[in-house]
Amino acid sequence: MAFQNDAKANFPDYANHGCVVGRHLNFEMYQRLFGKKTAHGVTVDKVIQPSVDNFGNCIGLIAGDEESYEVFKELFDAVINEKHKGFGPNDSQPAPDLDASKLVGGQFDEKYVKSCRIRTGRGIRGLCYPPSCTRGERREVERVITTALAGLSGDLSGTYYPLSKMTPEQENQLIADHFLFQKPTGHLMVNSASVRDWPDARGIWHNNEKTFLIWINEEDHMRVISMQKGGNVKAVFERFGRGLNAIAEQMKKNGREYMWNQRLGYLCACPSNLGTGLRASVHVQLHQLSKHPKFEDIVVALQLQKRGTGGEHTAAVDDVYDISNAARLKKSEREFVQLLIDGVKKLIDMEQALEAGKSIDDLIPA
Ligand code: ADP
Ligand code: MG
Repeated sequence: MAFQNDAKANFPDYANHGCVVGRHLNFEMYQRLFGKKTAHGVTVDKVIQPSVDNFGNCIGLIAGDEESYEVFKELFDAVINEKHKGFGPNDSQPAPDLDASKLVGGQFDEKYVKSCRIRTGRGIRGLCYPPSCTRGERREVERVITTALAGLSGDLSGTYYPLSKMTPEQENQLIADHFLFQKPTGHLMVNSASVRDWPDARGIWHNNEKTFLIWINEEDHMRVISMQKGGNVKAVFERFGRGLNAIAEQMKKNGREYMWNQRLGYLCACPSNLGTGLRASVHVQLHQLSKHPKFEDIVVALQLQKRGTGGEHTAAVDDVYDISNAARLKKSEREFVQLLIDGVKKLIDMEQALEAGKSIDDLIPA
């Protein structure tokens, strides 16, 4: 009998896998999706590749293009619903809101807050994401974005530095200063083939003050970062919103726009970054609170997340933690920044109570 290269022959074995995809992709669903393709040729096997190559606890799903979210909707929706802790077929992301003037508070004492950073990801409509793009498309992404950035003015005007033209010293200095990405080693990136052709068409653009930075062709077409020293979250958000809008305006002149839809908000390659893709973080020094047995619980109860001083998977240096909003979906950009501001204010209140030798029992959120 002739070999049939069909869904049955190709269905992955998830017996020992801990990924989210493995919990939702049963044979029947795989069979329904097996013959489908996006206009760019993205298949179900392409989007689930990280789930097959990883046995640990991970999402295991990555979009190859914007249309992947539509064509493989039943799988993406199931994974999104689990990953974002409930997001059903009738749920939808609130409208974008980048208005910093509506924030309450957000100017912190530098004794505690050492620096502030807000980042998001953006995709350019019509071009494939890193897992599926050709070398040519990746270079087109770089061209579209750098052309738009060249049109920025005032405090937003800056320069593009392609990775391929940097010396190792320059590259390492930018990483040490918290400005630049490293070649991704994470499973999603490696197993989805997103790091092919490194460092071709990757680079960083930044304004002269290094307070507005754009990463090109790292994990997404574009990562947009606003950051500065000190405790002024509000100023960082103001520049973030203004910069994002200015880039969109420049791109529009060449008929380009961000990937966005009403239900899911802004679309990035990884479904975990849907909605706002926004991570607003402060580097906050908490000598006392970080030693409190409930520190971790308090951070989680405030809907926040903590990382080390060097970012994800690093440790805190001198009790300086990276504290940020934990979620990306179901609130607007401004609401996430407000959540961070309110939470960090509480952390500092607790730190000050501990400094004064008082108990924080009545300050701990339920
Ligand atoms: P993300 O995934 O949001 O880009 P990472 O955890 O990968 O964040 O960290 C990226 C870089 O940004 C790291 O060098 C980290 O130290 C730096 N960083 C994050 N938050 C801040 C902050 N508030 N101030 C200064 N640097 C920061
Ligand atoms: Mg990161």
